Amino acid sequence: SGLVVSFGEMLIDFVPTASGVSLAEAPGFLKAPGGAPANVAIAVTRLGGRSAFIGKLGDDEFGHMLAGILKQYGVIAEGINFDQGARTALAFVTLRADGEREFMFYRNPSADMLLKPEELNLELIRSAKVFHYGSISLIVQPCRSAHLMAMQVARDAGALLSYDPNLRLALWPSVEEAREQIMSIWDKADLIKVSDEELKFLTGSDEIDDASAMSLLHPNLKLLLVTLGEKGCRYYTKNFYGHVEAFHVTAVDTTGAGDSFVGALLCKIADDRSLIEEEVRLREAIKYANACGAITTTKKGAIPALPSHSEVLSLMKGSQ
Ligand code: ADP
Repeated sequence: SGLVVSFGEMLIDFVPTASGVSLAEAPGFLKAPGGAPANVAIAVTRLGGRSAFIGKLGDDEFGHMLAGILKQYGVIAEGINFDQGARTALAFVTLRADGEREFMFYRNPSADMLLKPEELNLELIRSAKVFHYGSISLIVQPCRSAHLMAMQVARDAGALLSYDPNLRLALWPSVEEAREQIMSIWDKADLIKVSDEELKFLTGSDEIDDASAMSLLHPNLKLLLVTLGEKGCRYYTKNFYGHVEAFHVTAVDTTGAGDSFVGALLCKIADDRSLIEEEVRLREAIKYANACGAITTTKKGAIPALPSHSEVLSLMKGSQ
């Protein structure tokens, strides 16, 4: 199957042992490996696809633990660098009683921010069928240059470029800069996935309607996806657009649902990119990705909740 290469951050989320508390009230924290691009890479291998992760970790116990997790899941780890000085990034994350997520990042700087262009494994990037990335790696140098170079190398080698902005406002110097930088690479992507909140943020409109989504299409964009949690997903191409309903599940923790969704879709597209052009086949792939996202919400954490191919098939069969 076609290789998905995922570029960006991998870090450790520390999540409270009690639910519905603020970070200050949390009695203790559990380690949860995360970082959207790493989650996507693991989502792909869980489904039986091939993936690689490109990024930088601290040359510390946490960094080697994270690299070990990727390898354990069968993700190609030859694109991982270790920084001798900076630590692996940490984030303390809590879902407060009011439903809002609260983040506190330890990145001053963290190893992922220090990835340099000359450290990129170009051979690995050139072997990608799909090259996937977010926007957190755009925030500071030298990682920003490494990110831009990796995109260029992947594109020149014929990969499809897949972009999930994965907005984390707390990491940006300002709201304006976040919007500007996220949009600065918009027209390079072949596929883009945004959540409903990101759609509102990027368009500046309060509505999540087709017109605002379509305002984000650009001439080279082959597919725009807007994920809507328990409402499923909307898709937009130059030739058609529509909606694919979600599966009904009992959600306990939605962390990683979007990454699981993306991993599933990229797994399918890396095998056969022509499916984007045919609505019936695209809808089938989105349905599969919706099932993947849905299952991920039924278990705690992101990586431990990513489903196997057979789990996805049984949810799809069961709800027919
Ligand atoms: P993100 O994590 O990027 O915000 P979403 O929460 O929209 O992404 O989830 C991605 C996909 O996962 C959705 O399009 C949907 O198919 C599935 N999903 C997410 N939450 C639920 C839920 N509560 N019930 C069923 N499916 C869900």
